[in-house]
Amino acid sequence: MEQRLDAVIIGRGLAGAVLTETLRQRGLRVRVYDAKRPGNASLAAGGVVNPVVLRRDVPSWRALELLPLAERFYSEWSARAGWQGWHQLPLVKLFPTPKEVDQWTRAMDTDAGRVLLQQVPEPELEQGGLVHPHGYGTVPRCAWLNVPAMLEAQRSALLNEGVLVERMLEQDAVRITPEGVEVDGLQARWCIRCDGPFASLAGLIPVKGETVVVHIPGLHLSRMVHRGVFLLPLGDERYRVGSTFAWDDVFSGPSEAARAWLLERLRNFVHRPFEVEEQRAGVRPTARDRRPIIGVTGPGQAVLNGLGSRGVLLAPWCAAHLADHLFAGAPLDPEVAWDRSGLSELS
Ligand SMILES: Cc1cc2nc3c(=O)[nH]c(=O)nc-3n(C[C@H](O)[C@H](O)[C@H](O)COP(=O)(O)OP(=O)(O)OC[C@H]3O[C@@H](n4cnc5c(N)ncnc54)[C@H](O)[C@@H]3O)c2cc1C
Repeated sequence: MEQRLDAVIIGRGLAGAVLTETLRQRGLRVRVYDAKRPGNASLAAGGVVNPVVLRRDVPSWRALELLPLAERFYSEWSARAGWQGWHQLPLVKLFPTPKEVDQWTRAMDTDAGRVLLQQVPEPELEQGGLVHPHGYGTVPRCAWLNVPAMLEAQRSALLNEGVLVERMLEQDAVRITPEGVEVDGLQARWCIRCDGPFASLAGLIPVKGETVVVHIPGLHLSRMVHRGVFLLPLGDERYRVGSTFAWDDVFSGPSEAARAWLLERLRNFVHRPFEVEEQRAGVRPTARDRRPIIGVTGPGQAVLNGLGSRGVLLAPWCAAHLADHLFAGAPLDPEVAWDRSGLSELS
């Protein structure tokens, strides 16, 4: 039997999961090693796909290119594999000040704004009694990926096929050979590290984030709402509220301060009683220049990292781009190269 693999993947958060699916869809043979470590990003992720930087009402990096790709990737994958967890869900931004109304109006009049922004009545806001003294605007092409649900569905499938090994794989277990790498006695062309915030990579900054889940009796929304924090409907009057950003002591787990910060912002626009059901903390793997980190790092070795705070939107493009580079000889986009000068100069 042919024992040679195309890739060994280390880490199966969002990056490793999407890469695994991408490679398997291309008929490539992979083995995945993953051990859940406290602070991993994907189990804490809100899972929101939002192509707009809401502070400035401009598209996020390459949003118009990445969005259709992400929409197609997750909808086809969930349909093919039979998991539920990909939901198209518009986002309504509540304007915090009159200045933001002007900013939105100007943004709507740009090429990207005409595609991404709208101003339409949202009756649910009135019905729910949400507070919006300066009005609101809608980003219709947003979505929610239930990341833990996707990971769990893929986990079962990979375990069934013997493709997933649930344990840590240390660097010294990867032996470089003339043909690629050897791991656990198996040969592979590539070892691809998708170890997120646990990686040691120049220019990678770990950024802690926290969310809470609240139960808000009587509030029924079919949209996400954003004012300082996002309010993401999970069903049954439950909502995820997020996220915080912190740069110190990032692996310290859920904190009282983050919870208080989130709830204070929630109370700015939800004047209803609610109960906190859950709190999660994770660490985003963020590049200094906020771009993904991809490429060949040494003989037989490659990396997919730096998904930052927009991992769901970025991952399908990053995985396809890395696969084209490693297995079809396509050139790597210099903006995402792991050794780009922007990253190392700053670090
Ligand atoms: C609070 C919070 C909210 C967020 N909200 C959003 C959002 O709304 N939308 C969005 O798009 N993004 C969001 N993000 C960002 C998103 O979560 C990340 O971009 C993404 O999850 C990063 O995935 P990753 O696979 O690179 O890292 P991780 O999810 O951390 O995965 C790395 C995996 O590798 C494993 N691992 C590491 N080393 C080894 C080893 N040696 N052997 C075996 N396994 C190993 C880890 O245990 C882990 O399972 C949020 C993040 C946080 C923290």
